[in-house]
Amino acid sequence: MPEKIFTIPINEAMDRYDGCPLCHLRAKLEEDNLKYALGAAMMEPDVRIEMNRLGFCPRHFDDMFAAKNKLALALILESHLDEVSALFPQPEPDTGKKRKKPPKGADEADDVTRLADSCFICSRIKGTVRRYYSNFVYLWDSDTAFREKMASQPFICVTDAAGILRAAKAELKPVSYAELKDALNILVGKHIASVKSDVTKYCQSFDYRNADKPLGEEKNSVEKAIKFLR
Ligand SMILES: [Zn+2]
Ligand SMILES: [Zn+2]
Repeated sequence: MPEKIFTIPINEAMDRYDGCPLCHLRAKLEEDNLKYALGAAMMEPDVRIEMNRLGFCPRHFDDMFAAKNKLALALILESHLDEVSALFPQPEPDTGKKRKKPPKGADEADDVTRLADSCFICSRIKGTVRRYYSNFVYLWDSDTAFREKMASQPFICVTDAAGILRAAKAELKPVSYAELKDALNILVGKHIASVKSDVTKYCQSFDYRNADKPLGEEKNSVEKAIKFLR
């Protein structure tokens, strides 16, 4: 039995019928975690240790820089820089002796790569989103009204479709997994057909023969396609 603590926010996101419901939940998580990183987390010694170790990805550094809490960010950076400096040990002074062969196995190349690939905020969001997927699948399997809600969504994006399918494959009986796959494919298939047709009309609008034809909804088709494909 999966933890069901997220059934309320998932249902609320599904009741919006505005874009991908899971992207909406993720946007809220981004906002909450950014506030947490610059607030409560940096004051907690244990969490701060984790923050110093993982660092942040370029996008979340930009988000933190854009947030109006420069002192919190500077304090985070101060201790994080100490941790990073240990990953760049300074060479012994040159004594003219022949250089020793570096030992085999994990070294700075691995440690620095691990740091470059990790992010305190991403790792928190990833953990919660994984539980959203698991709860989503649980609701779909146990609640007929939820199945109807899913069928009426505008769309579910590729990233979230992948997450839902992965959770469903791991957690549902094969027959239920097959049913969920069918329902998701119908929803996503309808959206792809509509976006594709709008993108085609948008491309055709650049043809001089269509210069006098006004564009309707198709003028947003590129943005719509990207929102679905990301
Ligand atoms: Zn999404
Ligand atoms: Zn990140």
